[in-house]
Amino acid sequence: MIQYIDSHAHLAMLDFQTDTYIRLMNDWANLGLVSILDVGTTAKDLKDRLALWEHCRTKSGAQTNLPRLYFSAGIWPSEEAIGDWKKHIDELESHIKNVPRDTLVAIGECGLDRHWNRLDKGSNLRCERELFAAQLDLAHRYGLPVIVHSRDAAQETLEVLQDFPGVLGVIHCFSYGPQEVASFLEQGWYISFAGNVTYKNAQELREALQATDITRLLLETDSPYLAPVPHRGKKANPSMVQHQYELASRIKNMPLEDLARQVARNFSKLFIQP
Ligand SMILES: [Zn+2]
Repeated sequence: MIQYIDSHAHLAMLDFQTDTYIRLMNDWANLGLVSILDVGTTAKDLKDRLALWEHCRTKSGAQTNLPRLYFSAGIWPSEEAIGDWKKHIDELESHIKNVPRDTLVAIGECGLDRHWNRLDKGSNLRCERELFAAQLDLAHRYGLPVIVHSRDAAQETLEVLQDFPGVLGVIHCFSYGPQEVASFLEQGWYISFAGNVTYKNAQELREALQATDITRLLLETDSPYLAPVPHRGKKANPSMVQHQYELASRIKNMPLEDLARQVARNFSKLFIQP
């Protein structure tokens, strides 16, 4: 059976009862989903996400087949976090401090979102950048890779990353073209594509995927957002990542099994044995 990894999902946002999570995660594992990276968006969400998983694991019993779960913690550039970024960074650090390295595998998601944060809306772009830079600094100090959210801000994202040459990670839910792929690859970064790469009007994203070095490629759902074709419009779940794998296998002209094996290697290289 082909083994899939969803390298970016927000499981807690699916908002199910514990029993439903166990049943669904068991179904996903039986479809070949072996690992999920559960991604944080606020300074304090890690504790509840770990508790939910612990609860599922204890309640499900040893014979239930579940995907392996990994976690990241980070602060999405919301107006609230930007406005008081130092406090949010301190809080984030207090939550990640004592989590073991085989559980917490990355900082993020963090980054720049110039679709939501804009000068004409009075957003504080300097503080947005500080919030991002502070998390790259945290990643540097803790020796962790970073999951970067970057929207309508390719150039500035690259500039901030250049200030932290030792820090590596992934540009998640990639939303730029082949030229930007080249710039991020050149700085050593990985590129991850979400369900929107399967959308009819996403030709530029497919060209970006084509241009992504196969040894730097990751695939994700960003669940519950951006369900891929043929599930577009529904709430995404991690098992849907197989559609991103199938598309990538066609674009890269590579058997699905080989592609999945390569993506798994990329995932462990970046997150598990950096
Ligand atoms: Zn996300």
